[in-house]
Amino acid sequence: MTAFDYRDGELAAEEVPLAEIAARFGTPCFVYSRAAIESAFRRFDSAFGIRDHLVCYAVKANANLAVLNILARLGSGFDVVSGGELLRVIAAGGDAAKVVFSGVGKSEAEMRQALERGIRCFNVESASELDRLDAVAGRVGMRAPVSLRVNPDVDAKTHPYISTGLRENKFGIAFDDALALYRHAASRSHISVRGIDLHIGSQIEGLAPHVESAQKALVLVDRLAADGIRLEHIDFGGGLGIRYRDEETVDPYEYAFAILRLVGNRPLQLIFEPGRFLVGNAGLLLTRVEYLKRGTERNFAIVDAAMNDLLRPALYDAWHGVCAVRARPTPSRLWQIVGPVCESADFLARDRDLALEEGDLLAILSAGAYAMSMSSNYNSRPRAAEVVVDGKSAHLVRHRETPEELFERESLLP
Ligand SMILES: *Cc1c(COP(=O)(O)O)cnc(C)c1O
Repeated sequence: MTAFDYRDGELAAEEVPLAEIAARFGTPCFVYSRAAIESAFRRFDSAFGIRDHLVCYAVKANANLAVLNILARLGSGFDVVSGGELLRVIAAGGDAAKVVFSGVGKSEAEMRQALERGIRCFNVESASELDRLDAVAGRVGMRAPVSLRVNPDVDAKTHPYISTGLRENKFGIAFDDALALYRHAASRSHISVRGIDLHIGSQIEGLAPHVESAQKALVLVDRLAADGIRLEHIDFGGGLGIRYRDEETVDPYEYAFAILRLVGNRPLQLIFEPGRFLVGNAGLLLTRVEYLKRGTERNFAIVDAAMNDLLRPALYDAWHGVCAVRARPTPSRLWQIVGPVCESADFLARDRDLALEEGDLLAILSAGAYAMSMSSNYNSRPRAAEVVVDGKSAHLVRHRETPEELFERESLLP
């Protein structure tokens, strides 16, 4: 199934031409395919067959309520990193009992909220956090379900900004400190030790980093069992890469095969936290060419989307495919696709060979993950609309912000 494809020379999302979406909802606009999200979830989930497992979609990749709802209806759990994300999951019909809570800086209020909602597990990232959670749970008269996020010191070989499993990263508990902290956790009266958690980075291309970190974690699991601390689950985190351009990707079946073989018959539930894999290629950013500016050095296509809509190129030098919604015959030339924001880092793509005219629509591909969720209002730019296409229908699932909404919370001095 291809979510986005040309029909009669026009790019469409499922069965809806993108030109029609632009006419109805304006640009810039994120367009997601329900079928693509569902098919990615089913591919991942079914790879583990009948083995007891839970897929907890990483909400930060794309937190739109409609996207969360599509996944909740398929039985997905959720990985949240803030109280705000937990509220979104609940508002979208997600089940708190299938929520794991990650992140290095959970506040007391967030801990209390998550306890009261009855989440499945806290992925605890430091000794201080464990003690705070024990105290907060004590005050509400509960026992907090806990996994320790262990840092296996494995190189995920991805962009340094999205690598999390090395000793120098801020995430997780150093592997060599984990045993002692598990013993400490097991002795606390308001902590219930449930599992172990890993997450070594994002957009990981090969299988090797996953295998290496899983092996290390399983050594610890066995060591803990010998000590009388029997874990109920192992959470392998997320990180499966997707194809933006020509990256090597790991098929979920290969990934599952490797993980299942390593875990063997240990009586552990398997938890996964995929984000990008489920939504990355299920979305695109639809934008219109405002101006063409040809220079002696470079040609610029100035579009109505910008780094505030899609930060990845500016932040990680990330590459996104760019397609003309209606392909024109030649002549093409090399274009720098840039936005209206006043920063030289405001580019969406560089050196793209396209035949363009002012007013043309472009699709910036693979914009389903870490796109709208990382957007901002820089330059007082209202955030883009979001649309979910489902077969022949296009649904507006977030209205375009208005400039007035941006300063609604501000006030003048008396
Ligand atoms: C970001 C994140 C994920 C999701 O990562 P992807 O690369 O999008 O799969 C999962 N778990 C944690 C703890 C994260 O921070």
